[in-house]
Parts: sequence; structure tokens; C-alpha cells
Amino acid sequence: MAARIIIGLAITLICGYIAGRRFWWLSRLIRSGQPAPRRNNGFAGTAEAEVIEVAGQRKLLRWSVPGTAHFFTMWGFAILLLTIIEAYGALFSRDFHIPLIGTNSVVAFLEDFFSVAVLVSLAVFTLIRIRQAPARKERASRFYGSHTDAAWLTLALIALVIITLLLYRGAQIVTGHFPFQHVFSNSAAEVGGFSGASVTPWAFASRVVADWLHPLGYGVNSVLEAVFLLGNIAVIMGFLVFVSYSKHLHIFMAPVNVAFSRRPRALGGLDKTPDMDMEHVTEDTVFGAGTIKDFTWKQMLDFATCTECGRCQSVCPAWNTGKPLSPKILIMSLRENMFASADYLLTGEGEAQRLVPTVIDPDVLWSCTTCGSCVEQCPVDIEHVDAIIDMRRYEVLMESRFPTEAGLLLRNMENQGDPWGLGSSRRTEWLGALDFEVPVVDGAIPEDVEYLYWVGCAGALDERGRKQIESTARMLHRAGVSFAILGPQESCSGDPARRMGNEYLFQEMAKANIATLDAVGARKIVASCPHCFNTIKNEYPALGGNYEVIHHAELLQHLVASGRLIPGINYTGTVTYHDPCYLGRHNRVFDEPRGVLAAVPGLTQVEMHRHRERGFCCGAGGARMWMEENIGKRVNLERTEEALGTGADVISTACPFCMIMLDDAVKASGREDVAVLDISQVVERSL
Ligand code: SF4
Ligand code: SF4
Repeated sequence: MAARIIIGLAITLICGYIAGRRFWWLSRLIRSGQPAPRRNNGFAGTAEAEVIEVAGQRKLLRWSVPGTAHFFTMWGFAILLLTIIEAYGALFSRDFHIPLIGTNSVVAFLEDFFSVAVLVSLAVFTLIRIRQAPARKERASRFYGSHTDAAWLTLALIALVIITLLLYRGAQIVTGHFPFQHVFSNSAAEVGGFSGASVTPWAFASRVVADWLHPLGYGVNSVLEAVFLLGNIAVIMGFLVFVSYSKHLHIFMAPVNVAFSRRPRALGGLDKTPDMDMEHVTEDTVFGAGTIKDFTWKQMLDFATCTECGRCQSVCPAWNTGKPLSPKILIMSLRENMFASADYLLTGEGEAQRLVPTVIDPDVLWSCTTCGSCVEQCPVDIEHVDAIIDMRRYEVLMESRFPTEAGLLLRNMENQGDPWGLGSSRRTEWLGALDFEVPVVDGAIPEDVEYLYWVGCAGALDERGRKQIESTARMLHRAGVSFAILGPQESCSGDPARRMGNEYLFQEMAKANIATLDAVGARKIVASCPHCFNTIKNEYPALGGNYEVIHHAELLQHLVASGRLIPGINYTGTVTYHDPCYLGRHNRVFDEPRGVLAAVPGLTQVEMHRHRERGFCCGAGGARMWMEENIGKRVNLERTEEALGTGADVISTACPFCMIMLDDAVKASGREDVAVLDISQVVERSL
């Protein structure tokens, strides 16, 4: 007994020291990051996040087979913590059981069930890995670029934990020291150990192992009991050390990262609104992230938590169209740089590498459309988009480095208030196509006007955007909704500047818009552009602009549902709806546009394979609309091919940028028979 106590404790102390040192080093590294805003979710918020994301494995279960296998493995780890307590107790007393619950047959069942479930899950993981092995080297695999070699060792170590546990429990049954033995008999010890009838049948797996070991006799099993007990402890402690140095660190990091995640999701508005007041700027001020030390501790926690699962990579429109950007590889690169910069981060000695172009290639940085698919899919709540925008901010504001063609966009926004540089005087031209009056606000919004209609630059100035706006205005008018527009007083919401990294220009434009909106007394705003909708709704509040903002899809759905707008019956056709990223994924408006289409009698809706949360970007977000797309396939072509594959004769959407991108791609595909229409245009066609 003394020997096993000494060996068991020695293994624990040595491994515990190595792993503990590593965890302490990691925690110092992460805490060296900059302050992170809005990270206290409160008790209820944190508990909800842990229950849904960690215990419920919400995102992982979307990927049915590997998700289910991971669910059982994760829960196996949780339940088998009980067996670790039992193992340490047994070091000191062979008859140890956990007080109160330690002889309960339900506990016996759970421990055995999850032991078997983990083994089955490991077999599933192994089969998946073997089947996918050749493909993993292909770019199409979500594991492309991951450190997959260590994964075999991980699977082997987890299997060894379970195998030594079951062997130990089997030997315990034979020797009569199984904690659950006396459930049916008080005389287990007196029979010299093994009595199948004396062991709860709920410990079904341990009993099978006991049957195998029984012929070896009591003496051999006494030795085996000690060997497998120590083996179990050694493997667990070895695994702990291995985990602390590998990507499997997520076992411990994921619950922490989820606890500090942005609830309900890290989409919609950007995380940070930096102080751009030039009076507060000193020579030490850094805008954005130029080196690893400029990231917040939460971002560093993100980097350390990545499991390299590649779910983000597999849904990224940039990666899927041959661009060099993989959100997974981006996070892995930042993590490697964080580890490599440890001395600098912890002592301030030496120098940190410039992130762009040394760690992150400019083509990687500028390929992002900020579609949010990566954030949506990441099972451990990593916030890729904010990290990308932080690096863009540094590039634009500190280095004045960005794609040349985007310079024109910024100049136009700065000088003319819109990305095309057409000027405010042309913002009311579209009204000429209407046969009714729309008040253009000059002074306060009239009392009898319910909504301020935020038209957006594309709606006011682009030919195709105007068609959408005109239709929406006609539908609102038909339904008796009173609305007015700002006309020449409206300017770009600032979204393209912000997503490009020009926070200064964004805040200048946002503050000017807020001043205008406040001056006219705006309260309820309906926006047609999801980018304006998202920015005014989610980002203006941080700058003092607080309004009730809805998108026209939401308003039209309400009008249709309440009978104020009745679609006609003259529609026959098949429509597939494309989810704009900033309406759908970023703001969860999925049902409303579909509800509007569903209200049109005779219309058949078909879904693309990638829809709702998994909707594929059109390629315009993140100011990509105004940048060249010279690498790989065009994102809008990829999306349009998917839409055309449904056989629909109308591709419908609810965003002027999506309309332009999809329409361009439909024309490039030579499919003149397919129309790209806003949902309001579809309703109007039915009338
Ligand atoms: S936001 Fe979209 S484009 Fe950018 S990295 Fe994530 S998935 Fe890729
Ligand atoms: S960032 Fe998230 S989704 Fe992407 S590989 Fe890492 S853990 Fe997986």
C-alpha cells in the first residue's frame, strides 16, 4: 500500500508541477493583453453560456456525427472526474468510495456508460480520420493546415485512460474492492472477491472485464488492481501535461473563453469603439493591432483556445474561393506569434514582430468580407472578425497601408458622403419614379410621420439599388405606412470605412449622422441596407445615437402578417432567398424575409444548401465591394452558381449590395432568364 501511495503521489506531483507551470505561464501571457470591454456576462449570462455552449455543445451538434462523438467525449470527461476521485481515494484505501454517492448504482452506470461511450466516440473519430486521411492534405478539408499528427497521440491517450480505468475496475470487482460491490451483497469480501451476483448489474462494462480477469485468480488480480490503478493515474497525469502543451488545451480553455464571450454572439456590432478624439492622442497611442501586444487579453485567450477543428475554415467564403485567408490559420498564426513573443509580453524585453506583413500576409487580411461565418461556427466562441478589423485599423490608421483601389472609396466617403462620390444632391432623384409624395425632412420630422426611411447610398444612388428602394417605398405607401426621408441630409452610415479599418472616418460620419438624426427628432428608423441597419442599430449607440431601428424585411413581414399589405395572386415562379450576412447571421433576421415571400400566393420557395446561419456571403461585405478580387474565384460567382443550381427563376434578397453582386454574377453566367430581386420587388410583381 505504501509503495502505491508513493508512486501515485510522485507521478502526480511531477506531472502536476510541469502542467501547473505551463498553465501559470499561459495565464500570465493572456493577462498581459490589453483591457477587454464588455466581458462580464454576470452570473446568469455566464451560466447560460456554459450550459448552452459547453454542456449542450450547441455548435458542435450542428455537425451531426463528429459533433455527437465530441458530445459524449466531453461528457465522458466530466463524468469520469468521479473515477479520478475514486482512483486517488483508492491509493490510500482499497475500499474507498465517494461519500454519499460513491456506492450508488446510478453513478456506477454513468461511469461505465460514459467509459464505453468515449471508447465508441474514439472509434468514430479514428474512422473519420482514416477515411479523411488523404483528403486532409487537400485545401477542401477543414483540417488542412491543422496540427493533425498530435491528434493520434491524443486519441491513444484518451483510449488508454479508459482502458486502464476499466481494467482497474474489473480487477477491483474480482478482488472485492469495487465501490459498487455491496449494493447487492454484504459478503463480497468473504467470497474472496469475485461474485458476479454481488456487483450491481449497472456497472455492465466493468463486470464484463471482471469476467475476463477472473480466471487469473485473486492474487494476480490484486497485483493488477494496483498496476492498473497506478497506470490510470499515470496516463491521466501524462495526458494533463500533454494537453497543456497542445491544441487540446481547449479542454480547459474553452469553458473559460465561453464564459467571457460576447453574448448572445460576437456578431452585429464590432466589439471596440476606440477613442478617436485627437485631443487624447499621445505619441504612445496605437490604433488597432500592429503587434501581438496590442490585442486584448480576451483576444489572446481566443488564440490559446483554438482547437484547430477547421469549422471556420470550411465555411469561409474567402477560403472556399481560393483566397489565402483561412480564419483558422489566421488564429493559429497569431497564437504561434503570441507564444514566440512570450519573453517580450512578459518582460517587455526584445521586440515584437509586426503582424502585417510578417505574421499575416496583406492578401490574407484584405480578403475578409466580415461575413461572420467563422464566428458563427466556432464551437469555442472565437471572435475572428474583431481581430481582423483590429489589424486593418492599424494598417489604415497607423501605416496608411491598404489596397490602392480602396483609397478612392475612402476619399469619396470623406468628400461626398457616399462610396461612389456622387454627392448628396442626387439622393432624392429616385423619388421621381414614384407617383406619390414622400416628405423630405427639412427641420423636425412631422408628427404624423411614423418612420424615417434610411435609404442608404446604394438605394439612393445605384440604378439597381434604386429599383429596390422604389418598390419598398411603394409597398410601404400601399400599406398606409407614413414615412419620410432625409434626402440630401443623409450620408453613408460609415460601415465600409469601419470594416476597412478607418475608424476615424467612420466615427466622423457616424457622429455627423447622429447629430442629423437627433436634430430631426428621429425615433423609429426603417433601413433597407443591412449594413446601415446593423451600424445604426448596433454601433451608433456607443457614440450616443439610440434609435429603434428595423429593416424593411421586418416591416414588410409585419405589414403582410397584419393584413395591411396583401400580396396579389398573379405570381407563378420559384424563388430562392439569399441571406444577406448583415441581416441574417449578424442580426438574426432569417424568418421575416421568408415570411414575406411565403405570403405571396403561387410562389414556390426553394432553399440553397447554404442558407440561414450557414448562408454564403455575396462577397461585398467588409468593404470588399470596392476592392479588386484578383485571387481565386469570385465570391459572387460561387454564390450565384449555388442559387442557379436550385432551378429558381428569381434570386431574391433584401440587401442592395447583395443585389448588385448577384446580378453581376447572373449576367456573367449568361442567365438572362433569372432575375435578382429584392423581396419588396417580388411582392410588387405579384400585384
Ligand atoms: S468573416 Fe467571413 S470572410 Fe472573414 S474570415 Fe470569417 S468566414 Fe472568412
Ligand atoms: S477558430 Fe474556432 S472554428 Fe476555427 S479552428 Fe479554431 S476552434 Fe475551430
